[in-house]
Amino acid sequence: MIVVASANGAVGIPAAMAVLRDGGSALDAVEAAVRVVEDNPDDHTVGYGGYPNVLGEVELDASIMEGATRRAGAVGAVRGYRHPITLARRVMEALPHVLVVGDGAARLADGMGMVKEDLLTDAARRTWQQGLEGTLDPTTPMAEWLHRIGRLATDPEHVAGTVNVIAHDAAGHLAVAVSTSGAAWKHPGRLGDSPMIGAGNYADDRYGAAACTGWGELAIRAGTARMVVEGMRRGLSVEAACVEALHDLAHLGGIDPATVLMHVVAVDAVGRHCAATTRRGWEYAHQTEAMAEPTVGPRLVVELAGGAS
Ligand code: ASP
Repeated sequence: MIVVASANGAVGIPAAMAVLRDGGSALDAVEAAVRVVEDNPDDHTVGYGGYPNVLGEVELDASIMEGATRRAGAVGAVRGYRHPITLARRVMEALPHVLVVGDGAARLADGMGMVKEDLLTDAARRTWQQGLEGTLDPTTPMAEWLHRIGRLATDPEHVAGTVNVIAHDAAGHLAVAVSTSGAAWKHPGRLGDSPMIGAGNYADDRYGAAACTGWGELAIRAGTARMVVEGMRRGLSVEAACVEALHDLAHLGGIDPATVLMHVVAVDAVGRHCAATTRRGWEYAHQTEAMAEPTVGPRLVVELAGGAS
């Protein structure tokens, strides 16, 4: 049994491991872990306390996928409910759909009796305001101002983050869950890779599971999580599959490969794992059943410009 997560998921791993140790499923484990992260007000990239869109509204995206069946559920642009991961699971289990967004997702939350609340904390509001103030010059034409705001939203170093959790349970099943407030100052309604099955997450018990954080538009364009799993299907090790999928991003047109910020976590069908990144300094967390607590360590670095993997 193993749980692997982006570094900010470490706070949720004990909850996932408790589920697995109790004989629970990988699906229950990843949802449990992500709910802890969604509750964490100090994490400004996920759930309650997440950074808002350009209008100051927190909009959350999440997805969940079960490797045994490849059933999946996702929600996007959810406002006012702190646990989009549970909504994503509801979409998977109760609706004949995979992705539900906006008002439709809120309706689902309402129906589940979820508490509606303001998710914007003072700390997140301050950062949002500072971002706007940095670009607020009354002499700036509106078009240029919007362009500058757009630059804020696409500067993943400064404003992005997401939680990824993958679990491999005692029965050998995989599940993956992803939750995010997306890019701060994003255009209202913008969805990144996190709610896109195949882009931000993918799980197939036969080969493995993967999930992404980073520049979501690129993971959507390249189908990055699915590509990692596809690499394992072709016989690559979990590590080689991660490296291949990150290298693939350098071939997307219109961007300098040196600016690609992408991180993947992956687990293969027998529970071996890898976490890789295009940038030094990024960590991930994991815990096996033999470990008393999660450990956080460095990711494998795959440099896309001017360096070797
Ligand atoms: N991938 C997320 C998104 O594009 C953000 C992140 O992980 O940094 O919404």
